[in-house]
Amino acid sequence: MQHFSLHTHTIGFDGQNTVEEMVKQAKKLRWSRIGIANHFIVHPDIKKATFYAYACKGNYQNIYSENFEEALFKFFPLFQEIKRIEQITQFPIYKGMEVDFFDTTQWKGDFYRIINLLKPDYLIGSVHFVDYKGHLLNTHDMKKASFMEQKEILKIYWKNVRSAIKFKAFDFMAHLDLPAKVGLGYGKEWEKEEEETIALLAACGGKAEVNTSALRQKDEAYPSNRILKLLAKYEIPVVLSDDAHSVSQMGQYFEKGTELMKNAGIKRSIYPIMIADHIRQRIYMDWHFMRVR
Ligand SMILES: [Zn+2]
Ligand SMILES: [Zn+2]
Repeated sequence: MQHFSLHTHTIGFDGQNTVEEMVKQAKKLRWSRIGIANHFIVHPDIKKATFYAYACKGNYQNIYSENFEEALFKFFPLFQEIKRIEQITQFPIYKGMEVDFFDTTQWKGDFYRIINLLKPDYLIGSVHFVDYKGHLLNTHDMKKASFMEQKEILKIYWKNVRSAIKFKAFDFMAHLDLPAKVGLGYGKEWEKEEEETIALLAACGGKAEVNTSALRQKDEAYPSNRILKLLAKYEIPVVLSDDAHSVSQMGQYFEKGTELMKNAGIKRSIYPIMIADHIRQRIYMDWHFMRVR
C-alpha cells in the first residue's frame, strides 16, 4: 500500500494541524515522505462570493486571495516553515500547492510569475468553483441551484477541468468529479463528459489522484468507480490522496482506495522522487510506477 500522501492541508489555511504535527504522524504511520499542498485560490471576486462569508464564520477564509501577492505572502512563510521542519526532522517534506485553475489570460500570466518566485516542488490542479453568469459558485452553491441550472453549471465544471488539463502545469489533477460531493453528476448523461475529459488527460500526458476523503461519506472515492474504470482504460497514472485536513485523516481509507483501484483494473500507481539536476542547479520532482497491491 502507498505510504505517503501529497495532498494534505495545514493550519493557517484550512487544516487543523501544524506541519510539525503532520510530520510526527507521518513518522508514526511509517510513511516515507509527505507533501503539504494547501489551497492556492486567487480570484479578484473571491471575497464577494457567497461562500466567502461562510468561510469567515468557519475561520478558514485565509485560503482565499484576491490577488497573487496576497497568496504569495501566505505561501512564503509556509514554505520556509516546511524547510525548517525538514531540517530538524530529516524527514522528506515536499512543498506543494492545491491550485484552483481560472481560465483567464491574466490569471495564467500572474500564475507563472508567482510560481517562479515560490518554486514549489509540485502542483495539484483543481476546480472547486464555477463562474456562472458572473457569480462564483462553489460545490455547495451548485447544490442550491435549480435542476436546469445545475446541468449548465456541471457542463461548465467539466469544461474547466479540461482547461486545467490543457494548461499542463499540474503534476496531477485532484478529485476529478468534485460535484459528486453534493450528489451531482451521477447520471449516465455525464459519461460522455467524463470520457472526453479522461481521453484529454491521456492525450496531455496528465495524471490523476484517487481521493479517499469521499469515503468518509460514501462507498466511492473521488473519482467514482465509473471514472476509475476510464483511468484504467486510458492508462492514466494515478496516486492515492487522503486530502487530510488533520492528522487523524492521514492515510485514511487508503486500503479501501487501493481496493477500488484494483477493482477498476488499475494495475500501477505512481510515487514521487526528487531528482537533482546539477547542470541547471535545481531539484525537481519525477514520478515512478509501482504495482497496485
Ligand atoms: Zn480540493
Ligand atoms: Zn484538498
